[in-house]
Amino acid sequence: MFDPGPTHGIHCQGCDQRLPLRMSGPADVATLWECAACGTAFAGVLLPEQATSLAKLVRLAQLHFDAEHALPLPNAFRADVLEQIAKQNDRDFVERRRSPREDIQLDAVAIGLDANFMLVGPTCHGLVVNLSSHGMLLTTHVILPTASVAVQMQTGSEKIQLLGKIVWSRHLGKNCYGTGIDFVARFGKVPAPSAKAPLSAAAAGHSSDK
Ligand SMILES: [Zn+2]
Repeated sequence: MFDPGPTHGIHCQGCDQRLPLRMSGPADVATLWECAACGTAFAGVLLPEQATSLAKLVRLAQLHFDAEHALPLPNAFRADVLEQIAKQNDRDFVERRRSPREDIQLDAVAIGLDANFMLVGPTCHGLVVNLSSHGMLLTTHVILPTASVAVQMQTGSEKIQLLGKIVWSRHLGKNCYGTGIDFVARFGKVPAPSAKAPLSAAAAGHSSDK
């Protein structure tokens, strides 16, 4: 059988789908992923060259977005953000985008990733205040200092995970920071909690094509 090598991704043990992940090396920070088709869990690293085309085959495990990992928002954050955004809009200061943007308020959790989509932190809660087909403006109470982010947004009962590049970050005022994010890809569908596949740590580490 032809061995495509480790840069071509690992095969899911549950459904044999090739996933845009590789096993983590000693210097890497592993992330816990799940196969979007069957829910099998992998500790590994996203392959940057395959992230755009194959991101829909995987999703980040929910533990990365848990309260234990994410910095909570101050109580007054939402009110502060809306106040700052109103001021910014008055000054027509908010970034122009390639496509029409919609003003919204969506709870989100963002995980800091480096330029190669490796986990570097921090993980923080935030509020998405506008959204277009190409990107979003995410507000947080700490600055997002990384090159890229993975963002999980809550829209109604559905959770959506997106991968994006940070285009700009700036202080908006009063403990509010704004981050302009261009979308790179959307990750696979996140199941509702009742349909959540069991996390199988045993599946990690045995599916490399190496
Ligand atoms: Zn699978």
